[in-house]
Amino acid sequence: MTMANRTRSFNNRVCEAPYLIFLGPPGSGKGTQAEKLHKNFRLVQLSTGNLFREHISKGTELGLRVKDILAKGELVPDDLTVAMVMDRLAKPDTIMGVVFDGFPRTRDQALALQYKLEEKGKCITAVIQFRISDEQIVERLSSRRMCPKDNSTYNLKSSPPKNDEKCDLCGAPLIIREDDQPEVVRHRLAIYRQQTEPLIEFYREQDMLVEVDASRGIEEITEQMDEWMPMFIYNAN
Ligand SMILES: [Zn+2]
Repeated sequence: MTMANRTRSFNNRVCEAPYLIFLGPPGSGKGTQAEKLHKNFRLVQLSTGNLFREHISKGTELGLRVKDILAKGELVPDDLTVAMVMDRLAKPDTIMGVVFDGFPRTRDQALALQYKLEEKGKCITAVIQFRISDEQIVERLSSRRMCPKDNSTYNLKSSPPKNDEKCDLCGAPLIIREDDQPEVVRHRLAIYRQQTEPLIEFYREQDMLVEVDASRGIEEITEQMDEWMPMFIYNAN
């Protein structure tokens, strides 16, 4: 997609602050980039997993309902998830903008979010699609290691331990987290491709989609984000 296309796509949207959706499979690095946008541009990193945990630990009314549902091993329904998101968006720190990290996950959630935002005179500035193949993700995650004693994390390729496969801090043999086991990763990817990937078309049809090559290194993607941010902020104002 060329720069000219992107600029034209965003011109007819007037949002009060940059609201960005990061769309990408688990392991695509979107959480890392969302953290950087929080640090560098004061955008709120909004992840529904964290929201659930926050509400549960604070014992809010929404939290009690979620706790109940999760305890039964059921999925949190979309209306409850969206209610939590809207509650979070009402807080004053969102004035600088928001990165939605891992939300929406389904077309119903995407529609509900859009509808609720419109009601409040807000809108999504852009959707950033983190493009990477399943094979690259499996390879990337399979090189992650963790210390079972102190939970310190390593990556055999990008941040290896000093002594092979042993923890730098305590010397314990490193393990592969359950979530990073290739068969678990493949299962999560299959769910993503089935449930969430249709959102790419949903947002492309609305001219909201920007693609980033997520197979590149963290620094390169950060550079790309930094280059885009003025455009998102400009289009938001
Ligand atoms: Zn250790």
